[in-house]
Amino acid sequence: MVNNGTCPECTRLQNELGEAIIAHIKIVGQIQLAAMQQDFHLQATLEPLLSASEERRLQAKTNFKEHEATHLNGNASLPCDDSRTSQ
Ligand SMILES: [Zn+2]
Repeated sequence: MVNNGTCPECTRLQNELGEAIIAHIKIVGQIQLAAMQQDFHLQATLEPLLSASEERRLQAKTNFKEHEATHLNGNASLPCDDSRTSQ
């Protein structure tokens, strides 16, 4: 059902999600390090980056899920393919 590996848009969105997750984890690690070192200035600097990366991660996840749903519904956004689905 799921078009894993064959749909270029799935691959693109999966890569984007992977990058967003890695970027987010990296910033979480930096913030934890700053907290341990009680570097409040660095923490304050990283806070907005954390929010932004969290947002990017959630957005990438939403984009992927929404695209994936087009495969699950059976109409992989190919309106010109109606003749074949009516069999
Ligand atoms: Zn796809």
